[in-house]
Amino acid sequence: MARFIFITGGVVSSLGKGLMAASLAALLQARGYKVRIRKFDPYLNVDPGTMSPYQHGEVYVTDDGAETDLDLGHYERFTGVAARQSDNITTGRIYRDIITKERRGDYLGATVQVIPHVTNEIKDFARSEVDDLDFLICEIGGTVGDIESLPFIEAIRQLRNDIGRNNTVSIHTTLIPYIAAAGELKTKPTQHSVRDLTSLGIQPDVLLCRVDRPLPEGERAKIAQFCNVRKEAVIPALDAKSIYSVPLQYHREGLDAEVLRAFGIEDAPAPDLSRWDDILDRLFNPEGEVTIGVVGKYVGLPDAYKSLTEALVHGGLANRVKVNIKWIDAELFEKGDDVPSHLEPMHAILVPGGFGERGSEGKIASVQFARERKVPFFGICLGMQMACIEGARNTAGLDKASTTEFGETEEPVVGLITEWMGKEGLEKRAANGDLGGTMRLGAYEARLDGNSHVAAIYGTTTISERHRHRYEVNAHYKGALEAGGLIFSGMSPDGALPEIVERPDHPWFVGVQFHPELKSKPFDPHPLFASFIEAAVKQSRLV
Ligand code: GLN
Repeated sequence: MARFIFITGGVVSSLGKGLMAASLAALLQARGYKVRIRKFDPYLNVDPGTMSPYQHGEVYVTDDGAETDLDLGHYERFTGVAARQSDNITTGRIYRDIITKERRGDYLGATVQVIPHVTNEIKDFARSEVDDLDFLICEIGGTVGDIESLPFIEAIRQLRNDIGRNNTVSIHTTLIPYIAAAGELKTKPTQHSVRDLTSLGIQPDVLLCRVDRPLPEGERAKIAQFCNVRKEAVIPALDAKSIYSVPLQYHREGLDAEVLRAFGIEDAPAPDLSRWDDILDRLFNPEGEVTIGVVGKYVGLPDAYKSLTEALVHGGLANRVKVNIKWIDAELFEKGDDVPSHLEPMHAILVPGGFGERGSEGKIASVQFARERKVPFFGICLGMQMACIEGARNTAGLDKASTTEFGETEEPVVGLITEWMGKEGLEKRAANGDLGGTMRLGAYEARLDGNSHVAAIYGTTTISERHRHRYEVNAHYKGALEAGGLIFSGMSPDGALPEIVERPDHPWFVGVQFHPELKSKPFDPHPLFASFIEAAVKQSRLV
């Protein structure tokens, strides 16, 4: 049976619980254990799919088509275990399911209540599909004391009794602030937070304490004494130089050893951490650097492009170069900023995914610059659609080319997809349908032209990549766009939906309808990002 590790947050939000969970999973995995991580989100949205990136950061899409919290991206990047719909639950989804059952009459006349009905749903979710695991790590979103997270805390309290204390460990994450005026680290917020948690029936076994300087032994002992944990179980979590330093850092502080000890596991295999040593060696000893211009809309909020940022870093790891990302607001080019003055210093240009018209003309201008100046160009999802519109307008003579996403157009080079072959048969959508969960979502196969650049990059002609889009390049324009030099080198298996475009007359010009960044890992960089950064390295030698 799987053992359960619960991670709760205290004192403040944004302590990086997701990275903590991912790092612990990586350490347990390095000891040979099978691990999975789940995220419990206390908000009322059914999923983050309809939330603005400004509210929630990136929406992470799984193979099975779930729109989930960006922490699932960390989990997958640190463990290589593909996340699933069943790894992310929200209060909204739980209530939706309960109300559906209530309307069907499934509760047989009972009064439906938070305890036991909501807590039972949470427990069922936690315990589903765990048979093949050694450890399941459950990260509870929010901070102890929030009204929203109470049912989750109550559910894990019950679970500890249901499956036995020996089979569960509770980790509480806190902050130890440094008060400059006093010249001291303060342990009181940690003490209060642990008191809050114990008042809800959960005594933590391990405390993971964010702190911006080394934690003196005296403070560590004090926390242990007040919070009722072993001194060795008070783990200082110092700020790290890179997120990929965190697993080794926590290992040195004894996190994995303490967690195993709390389970009473004494014969755990020693961890093989060579994978992480290699990543850090590549990260901190680069043999060059490149600058990539990312022309997008949410450039003030890097969390909106979390996986993209990481995939570019992974491309750098593959080539042993440092990748500098220059975030460029596409709207600047619409407000009169000069395109060359921003883009000339770039070794490659990337237009990422996005929604809505704002900034689109700036993105199209960036594609044109990359095409004409022969600067490596990567268009992802909306970025590929912009590359097709640019190609249509400037190389195929269709100057009215646009997308129906921005309103009616005479030349819908990109249009709403109303039907496509889904995993369980034909999927249909209406123009005025629901927004939540209705895009073409999740992993779909694509077939690549054997002679194409992308087939050489992937080393295969059948790929599977994750999608999240409502609009699609219209295959009727294939002839016109190809005559202008933009080749459709990847299509859906039925030949209906364009998946990849490229320009053979250009050093590196690729647009993809899917999101390759979601599958890139530091120990397994995505081939498209590895190749794109390689092209940027070549470009850097030219300029
Ligand atoms: N807005 C575009 C669409 O829905 C692109 C989506 C995206 O970039 N993820 O097709």
